[in-house]
Amino acid sequence: MRTESVSAICLISVACHPGALTRRGLLHDPACENGTVAGLLFLLAHPDDETFIAGGTIARYAAAGVEIGVLCATRGDRGKTGDICSRDDLPRVREAELRAAAQILGIRHLEILSYEDRLLASAPPEEIRRAMVAALRRQRPRIAITFDPNGMNLHPDHIAISRFASDAVAAAADPRWYPEAGQPYTVERMLWCAPGRVFDLGAIENLAGRAGIDFLIDISPYRDQKNAALRAHRTQYPGLKNLFRDDTTTAVEAFRVAWGPRPRAIPAADLFAE
Ligand SMILES: [Zn+2]
Repeated sequence: MRTESVSAICLISVACHPGALTRRGLLHDPACENGTVAGLLFLLAHPDDETFIAGGTIARYAAAGVEIGVLCATRGDRGKTGDICSRDDLPRVREAELRAAAQILGIRHLEILSYEDRLLASAPPEEIRRAMVAALRRQRPRIAITFDPNGMNLHPDHIAISRFASDAVAAAADPRWYPEAGQPYTVERMLWCAPGRVFDLGAIENLAGRAGIDFLIDISPYRDQKNAALRAHRTQYPGLKNLFRDDTTTAVEAFRVAWGPRPRAIPAADLFAE
């Protein structure tokens, strides 16, 4: 088990983004007056998770001026190399791929931790909780998003990050946890990715009537960006291109309320819907 200290590779201070205020239903002025930034923070396990489950959603909200952050807990060092690099080079290559995808999608705050791929469940809970609490208090997103408790596909790292994210979102709100890691902060809503494989959702009849589809985002206007970000994960793309093989597989992305208010109309077409 790797116990080295987490490394915050890239942190950028945030400010209230006026572009986000123009979009009805996304933000209201008081949110900025009390120091809250309209934002989404994705708490994920591997480089490519962000594009895989939410590339279109990220592109959509980034285009609307919403601050998007991603905390990625590993550098994907056990993934495929795609015959592009050596296994030793893979963590560095995948980190660069994630940075390229972030640029394409409009992710402004990227933090990459160095926990070991496939062994994320063994990360020291105190250490990863603190790192995630610090990220939440620094970015102060209105919504945190992670995998569901089954990790979407039972991947042990996805299950682990869902567990750590729940732990951190609760701890971030309590001033007794890590007072040196920033002012306490409570997200308005925490979301899981919806049940089912994201690339299958577009082919499901009456998807809106399915349990667990609380937010259904039409990503067709952002399909090109999602596809470009998928391609940016060059080492993983040979597998990804078989999953995201046509327009149906990049039609929608969906999320489920884990914590916080449910939207009045289910499924909502906007993650910030009241
Ligand atoms: Zn993953």
